[in-house]
Amino acid sequence: MKKFSRIAIANRGEVAVRIIKACEELGIETVLLHSEADIQSRAYRMATKTICIGPAPTAESYLNIQANIDGALAGGAQAVHPGFGFLSENADFAEAVNKAGLTFIGPSPESIRSLGDKVHCKELAKQAGLPLVPGYQGENQDVAHLIKEAEKIGYPVIVKAAAGGGGRGMKLIKASAEARELIESAQREAQSAFGSPKVFLEKYLDRAKHIEFQVFGDSTGHVVHFYDRECSVQRRHQKIIEEATSPSLTDDLRRRMGEAACAIATLGKYKGAGTVEFLLQDGEFYLLEVNTRLQVEHPVTEEVLGVDLVKMQILTAQGDYVHDPKQVRATRGHSIECRIYAENPFMGGVPSTGLLGHVEWPEGPGRRYEYGFDEGDTITPFYDPMIAKVIVWDETRSRAIQKMIRVLKDSVVFGVHTNIPYLIEILSHKEFVNGTMTTRFIETYFSEALKEPELSEVEKQIAAQAVLQLKGSGKSEVGTATSPFASYWRGV
Ligand code: ADP
Repeated sequence: MKKFSRIAIANRGEVAVRIIKACEELGIETVLLHSEADIQSRAYRMATKTICIGPAPTAESYLNIQANIDGALAGGAQAVHPGFGFLSENADFAEAVNKAGLTFIGPSPESIRSLGDKVHCKELAKQAGLPLVPGYQGENQDVAHLIKEAEKIGYPVIVKAAAGGGGRGMKLIKASAEARELIESAQREAQSAFGSPKVFLEKYLDRAKHIEFQVFGDSTGHVVHFYDRECSVQRRHQKIIEEATSPSLTDDLRRRMGEAACAIATLGKYKGAGTVEFLLQDGEFYLLEVNTRLQVEHPVTEEVLGVDLVKMQILTAQGDYVHDPKQVRATRGHSIECRIYAENPFMGGVPSTGLLGHVEWPEGPGRRYEYGFDEGDTITPFYDPMIAKVIVWDETRSRAIQKMIRVLKDSVVFGVHTNIPYLIEILSHKEFVNGTMTTRFIETYFSEALKEPELSEVEKQIAAQAVLQLKGSGKSEVGTATSPFASYWRGV
């Protein structure tokens, strides 16, 4: 058994804060490996030590394997926590960390390769007898061959980058006339975004729910699951609202999907926290992919089970966590998470950057806030626009929805626009309230930008005063919008 005295964090924002808190509770020091752009952030202020590993562009800092390893070694860490996004699912990084004599807090490089690669994972799933979305994952990447396979599957068909992730690198082919053009452009984009032109095809399920299982492999290699989450509320294949447990599963489905999740994670010799994602349609479930890392939405599982997944990850990496079914039992109540994005909901979600003014997260029972920035920090255009997560817990799903709406209405974020008004609309929608939403919920009901509400005179005065105060501080521009099409990662 090892005992870490200092852990390096190869990440930023709210997840870096989350990891620092878990380390603090375990009596472990931290070294934050950050870019030049992240000096104004909570994680920077909270870490025991900070090391700048490069300039703002991710390729030169957060995605630079050698810079992260050098930083972790220079910072005197024994282990590296990769968080989510960035290098967290990069087997080469895990391998380089281990080779440098450090411990990678996550699964082995072999597990990442076999489960994290979408095509390998499907091969493994076939061996385990798991249901897959009908499709083609073969080596033959000739466009004429792919078109033939797409015809066999039957339109609509999704073409996906084999090395893709975060909801990017996917195209929907609705009819054979557009197949060639879309496959060719998917191959080109896959090459430029993910470094490999390889694509695969899947039948498009047009009324599916996204259901995922939190799996966990303890220090002895024993794999269990910590129940399910539903993440059907998505925009452009990226999650916005997640909940635990899913309102859509019967006991029998939950049992069968949980068994399937454990079967594939066991085959992949999984260690630590991972997620097995499924699509559920007409009572049938299909494996989508395995995410070999902590998930953005892990807090909802923590809330309904009363566990700390990040601490469990660290203890497992130390060889110190053995699952005890008496400690982690049935779920209790319901938990919902909303991702707060710095974007303008009244302008179709264009990212909003600038100096953060007054920020207030209203305290109360069953409310939890995960955020990376405080008043006076600057939201830059370099990274994912998710600036915070609001998580609530209550006895029932309907009470959790009610609580979330109240909490969002009482939350205050000045300086940048956020998607809070949009989230409130979604949470109040009949289909969400009934729990019948599919992954097409947002495109069906919320394809248009929200209408900006008329502010009352008092509200206008408060807003004007806040802006004046910010400008008076002379720190930076207030709420500068940038291109909505910049390529951000999202740790989906
Ligand atoms: P990524 O790794 O980029 O997140 P996933 O394969 O996990 O990609 O899919 C992300 C989302 O895209 C899913 O949750 C679902 O909404 C949608 N999606 C993916 N594959 C299909 C499919 N075959 N049919 C319908 N929707 C799909």
